[in-house]
Amino acid sequence: MPQKMEHSILATVDKIFDDASSLCHLEDGLKERIKACNLTLTIRFGVRLRGKVISFNGWRSVHSEHQHPAKGGIRYAPNVDQDEVEGLAALMTYKCALMGIPFSGSKGALQIDRTEWEPHELERITRRFTQELAKRNLIGPSQNVPAPDMGTSETEMAWIADEYQRLNRLDINAAACVTGKPLTHGGIEGRVEATGRGTQYAVQAFFRSWQDRGPLGLEGPLKGKSVIIQGLGNVGYHAAKFLSEEDGCIITGVIERDGSLYCAEGLDIEKLYQHMKKNGGVKDFPGTTFNADGAKLLEAPCDILIPAALENVITSANAADIQAKLIVEAANGPISHEGNEILRARGIPILPDIYVNSGGVTVSYFEWIKNLGHMQLGLLDHQRQENQNRRIAEMLESMTGAKIPQDQWDSFVRGSDEIDLVRSGLGEMMRKAFERMLAIYQTRDGVPDLRTAAYILAIETVAKSYQVSGI
Ligand code: NAD
Repeated sequence: MPQKMEHSILATVDKIFDDASSLCHLEDGLKERIKACNLTLTIRFGVRLRGKVISFNGWRSVHSEHQHPAKGGIRYAPNVDQDEVEGLAALMTYKCALMGIPFSGSKGALQIDRTEWEPHELERITRRFTQELAKRNLIGPSQNVPAPDMGTSETEMAWIADEYQRLNRLDINAAACVTGKPLTHGGIEGRVEATGRGTQYAVQAFFRSWQDRGPLGLEGPLKGKSVIIQGLGNVGYHAAKFLSEEDGCIITGVIERDGSLYCAEGLDIEKLYQHMKKNGGVKDFPGTTFNADGAKLLEAPCDILIPAALENVITSANAADIQAKLIVEAANGPISHEGNEILRARGIPILPDIYVNSGGVTVSYFEWIKNLGHMQLGLLDHQRQENQNRRIAEMLESMTGAKIPQDQWDSFVRGSDEIDLVRSGLGEMMRKAFERMLAIYQTRDGVPDLRTAAYILAIETVAKSYQVSGI
C-alpha cells in the first residue's frame, strides 16, 4: 500500500488553495488573509493519574473568523501534530463555506494513545482539556464548537458538554458548546450516519446532474453500478449500506485493515459488518475471494471507487493503475496532489472530500440549531402535518372509491420526525452544493476539475464575508 505521505494535509490544502485562488479575482492581501490559519494555541497540561502527574500536549486551531462560531472536531491520536491540526482546520473553513454553513473552520487535537488509558482516566483527561479550552474562550456555543473526530466519539462529547455546563451554569445555551453528543444529552437523530448518508447523496447528485456520463462509461441509473469501498468504519459502512440497500448499487469489493474481499455478485454489507465486528476483520467471510494485500483492490475495475478509510491511499505510485470510472472521496485527503494530477489527465472524475464528507458538519449544524432552539426538530409541526395528510388521503379515497392499502396509508399519513427532517435538510444542502460546484466547473474558464471548483466556491464565499463585514 502506498502509505508514504507525499504531502502533509496542510501542504496539500494550501496547494489546492493556491491553484483555486489563482482563478478567483481577489486582491492578493485578501487571499493571504483567507489562506493563513488565524490562531493555533498549544495547550500543555498535567493530570494526576496512577499516582503521578502525567503531561499532555494538545492544540486548538482557529483557521478563520469570517463567521461565528468556529467549528471542527477534536482528534485523539498519538502522532498528531500542529501541522495536521492546522490543515484540518483549513479544510473545515472551506467545507463549511462550500456547503453554505455559517461557521468558520477550527480543529483540535490531543496527543494521546487512548488504548493506554481506562475510560475513567480518559474522562478526567477530557474534562481537564475542556477546562483549558474554556479558560481561553476556545469552546462555547457562540465562539467555538468542537465535535468528534478520529479517536473521539459521542462519549467524549458528552463529557465535554457536561464540563462546559458546570463551568457556565448561567449559560442557557451551554449544550450547544459541542456537537455529536448522545441523543440523551442534546444530540440529534441521524448524526452517526450523517457522513455516510452525505456520501450517498453526493453520488446521487452526480448521477442526477452530470449529463455527459456516456464517455465515462457511467450511462444509465445508479442502480446496478458496481462499487468498491475502502474502510467499513462509520463512514464506509453507512455509505455502502445506503447505496446498496436504497439505490441498488452492487458492492463488489471491500478493503479493510486485514485485507480485501471481492464478490462480483455483490456483498451483503450488513452481514459483512456483523462478521467484522465479531471477528475483527473481513477474512473468512463466506462466498468471497480474500486477498491479504487489500490495497491492490483499489486498482480493480468498478464503476465507483469510494476510499473511506484514511489519507494518501491513491498516489503517484498507483494512480495510473486505477480502473474505476468515478472516485468518491469519503475519507479526508485519500488522493495525493500527484495522484490527483494523474487521474485528472486520465479523465477520471473525482468528487472531492470537502464536498463528499461534509455530511457530518452539516448535521452538526442542525444539532447546534436544535440546541439553541431547545426543542426536538419537527415537534411543533408533526401533528398538524399528520392531520392534513389524513384529510388528503380520505379525500382521495372518497373521490376514487378505492381503498389505499394500509402500508401506503401509514407511510403517506405519517408526519415528519426529526430523522426525516435531518435527512431532508442534508439532502437539500448536498444537492445545492453540488449544483453550485458544477456550475463553476462548467461555466468558468480554466477550472480543471470539481475539486478546484469546490475551492473556488469556498474561497469566494469566505472572501465575500470578509469584504462585507470588514477585516
Ligand atoms: P472509522 O475509524 O470509523 O473507520 C475507518 C475504517 O477504515 C475502519 O473500519 C478501519 O478498520 C479501516 N481502515 C483503517 N486503516 C485501513 C487500511 N489501511 N486499509 C483499509 N481499511 C482501513 O473512521 P470514520 O469516522 O469512518 O472516518 C473515515 C474517514 O472519513 C477519515 O478520513 C475521516 O477523517 C473521514 N471523515 C469522517 C467523518 C465522520 O463523521 N466520521 C466526517 C468527515 C470525514
